[in-house]
Parts: sequence; structure tokens; C-alpha cells
Amino acid sequence: MEKILVLVHTDEGGVLPRAALETVAAARSLTGDFTIGVFGEKAGASIGSLAVEGEAFSAPRYATDAAACEAIVRKAGATLVLAPNTFRMARCLPGVAARLNGAVDTHAVAVSHDTEAVTVTRWFYRQRMEGTLAREARPWFILIEPGAYEAAEASLAAAVEVLPVEATTRTTHVGYVSPESGEQTIRPDARLLFVAGAGWTKKQADGAVHTDEAGELILGFVRTAQSSLGSSKSLVDLSGEGQTVLPFLTHLHQVGQTGSTPRHRKGLATCCHGEEPHVVGWRFINERRAVNLDPNCGWARGKADVLYVADAFEVMRELNRLI
Ligand SMILES: Cc1cc2nc3c(=O)[nH]c(=O)nc-3n(C[C@H](O)[C@H](O)[C@H](O)COP(=O)(O)OP(=O)(O)OC[C@H]3O[C@@H](n4cnc5c(N)ncnc54)[C@H](O)[C@@H]3O)c2cc1C
Repeated sequence: MEKILVLVHTDEGGVLPRAALETVAAARSLTGDFTIGVFGEKAGASIGSLAVEGEAFSAPRYATDAAACEAIVRKAGATLVLAPNTFRMARCLPGVAARLNGAVDTHAVAVSHDTEAVTVTRWFYRQRMEGTLAREARPWFILIEPGAYEAAEASLAAAVEVLPVEATTRTTHVGYVSPESGEQTIRPDARLLFVAGAGWTKKQADGAVHTDEAGELILGFVRTAQSSLGSSKSLVDLSGEGQTVLPFLTHLHQVGQTGSTPRHRKGLATCCHGEEPHVVGWRFINERRAVNLDPNCGWARGKADVLYVADAFEVMRELNRLI
């Protein structure tokens, strides 16, 4: 009989990341009987019956996060630990698994329990193959990929045991820095992914380029809709080559074979051709739409649910006006 622990952390202000509630949903899909442990800022006033809190544990940092996780797992006597695959967990849990002689698997998209064993499903080889695995080592730490489960409802814990953990560290957390761009436009939790392609920087019908307006339309939409921003490789490569393009786009925004494979409910591609190396990055976008002047672009060939054959400048001007 597995003893299951859901291990999550709070973020700044004591807020639980959505991925934490998705991990609760993953645990519920296995059993109704599990313990929740929380560490981080205001962890004692959260959904867990076990908590580690205090100033030292508020900042994300390997040494203190690992110490908090180790204490919670030991106290719970857990054999199976489900945690969200946030950067904070991905950094500290492999070390915790090693300390406890356990095992860890990351990027799990499903966890199930048949009569024989608990199994984990994850993708391999850049999302091309899906595999299912089981392990004998315990405790087994499983990091659940954000977006793989619908977030569960969870209420505050009725009784909380705050564990005393000594915080020894030489590392100071200074803050977050967004690379190059001043504004955080990559939002993994957003419902919508807005993708900008190289067409935004190409000569338009009047024979001129309109990069400034393109930037305003794209950022205007991303800010208002609170969508995540993605890009094609061509567009971010142009910025790397020093051409005057869209300064807020970095290679971190690139979606595709050599970029990222984000998970969002919906996606809207604009001025992007929809070539295969780009579209493979859309594997986990459930509903896909694209705006392109070319009725024969890649999106028209079965890669989008809806293709608007239209000028993206006009469409986005109108869309921004409407919202
Ligand atoms: C090994 C390999 C790996 C790669 N990995 C990636 C990857 O990870 N990600 C990636 O994106 N690409 C990748 N590529 C490149 C990919 O094949 C394409 O070259 C790239 O995605 C094209 O980018 P784009 O669609 O933005 O630009 P383009 O192909 O230049 O398309 C621009 C589009 O904009 C449209 N357009 C122009 N003006 C307007 C307007 N006013 N309104 C509407 N539409 C307009 C045009 O009709 C055109 O379709 C890879 C290629 C290789 C060989």
C-alpha cells in the first residue's frame, strides 16, 4: 500500500502556483487518501497538513528547499511523492531523492495505479515518443508537468503541523531577472498562446515595413489578454542578427522543434507560415487558429483548426479595439 504525499510550495505572497492544484488533482485520480505538505512563504496557512515556513524558506533556493522537502517527506513517511514540475521542485527534488535513497522522474504527464503497480507516463525524445514506466525504488518522487491535469479545488488545511527545520545556507536570493526583455511575456499558466511570425517584419502591401506598429499590436494584445507570447524561429533569429525587429522577443520565446513545446488551451499564430519544424512545438495546444495572408500556408494544410486568410495588422487592430 503506497503512502502518498503531495508536496508543493507557495510562491511570493504565499500564493499557490496553479501547478500545485493540478498535482492535487493527479493524486486524487489515484486515491482519496493522501497527505499534503507545503513549504515556502505562508505555507502554514495553506492547503497542507504538514508545513515548513519562515523567512529562510520563502526564497527559492536549493539548500533550504531541499531541507524543507526532506523534512516533510520523512515526517509523512511517504513512499510516493507527487510534486509539480516547477523550476523550484525540479531543482531540489533530485537531491532530496538521493538523500532518501529514492528515485525521481520528471515531466510526468500522467500517473496511474492499476492492481499491479503505480505507473508514470511521460514523453521522450523531444515529445516524439510516449512511454510508461514503473519503479521499485521508494520513495519515488514524480514531478507532474504543468497543464497535464485540470487544477483541483482544495481548501485550507483544518490542522497544520509546522515542522521545525534548520536553515543553513550560504546562498542569498536576490530576485528575478527576465532575460533581455524588460517584461515577462512567457506565461506558462495562460489559457492562450499568441505566436508572432516573421511576417510582422516583412514589407506590407504599401511596400513598407511597420515594425513599430507590429510591436504595439502584439504587446497590446498580450498585455490585455494576459496571453503567453511565442515566436517562430525566423523572427527571433532576425533579432539575433541585429536587424531592427521586435526587441521583446528572445530565443526563449521560440516554439518548435528547436524551441519549446508549451501547453495552452488555445493558440493563435499570426504572420507565421506554419512550417512543420515550428508546428511540432504546438503538439500540446488544444485549439489552434492562425491568421495568414496566404491561403496555401502550412496552417491551411491540416495544422490549424481555423485559418483566417487575412491581414494580421488589420485583424489585430480590430481585436485589440474589441477587447
Ligand atoms: C532543423 C530545423 C529546426 C527548426 N526549428 C524551428 C523551431 O523550433 N521553430 C520555428 O519556428 N522554426 C524552426 N525552423 C524553421 C522553420 O522551418 C521555418 O523557417 C520558420 O518557422 C518560419 O518562420 P515564419 O513562419 O515566422 O516565417 P516565414 O516563413 O517567413 O513566414 C512569414 C509568413 O507571414 C505571412 N504574412 C506576412 N505578412 C502578413 C500579414 N500582414 N498578415 C498575415 N500574414 C502575413 C506570410 O504569408 C508568411 O506565411 C527549423 C528549421 C530547421 C531546418
